[in-house]
Amino acid sequence: MFFLIIVIILGCIVGIIANSKGRSFFPWFIYGMALFIVAIVHVLCIKSIDNTPIGPASHTKKCPQCAETVQADARICRFCRYDFEGAGNHTQPAQATIPPQLPS
Ligand SMILES: [Zn+2]
Repeated sequence: MFFLIIVIILGCIVGIIANSKGRSFFPWFIYGMALFIVAIVHVLCIKSIDNTPIGPASHTKKCPQCAETVQADARICRFCRYDFEGAGNHTQPAQATIPPQLPS
């Protein structure tokens, strides 16, 4: 009985790791119970599937000026040069006034 609980826990570990990488929990759970040593190495080696992104907002953001998606760390929109730092803390999307930089 104790051995069965250990096997289920080991299967859960493999299943949870696989699930965190975008794989199905249940097949990996069975795999982990049957061949834990092989499955744990296998599940640690597989790459994550990006078909279920955790959230595009986590590493990208939408430019309020041109509605293009840019990197979350971007300070200036690469499409319209919108200044996120200058207007980022305002609740209302301020009119991005692009300072005229005319070549003299
Ligand atoms: Zn923009």
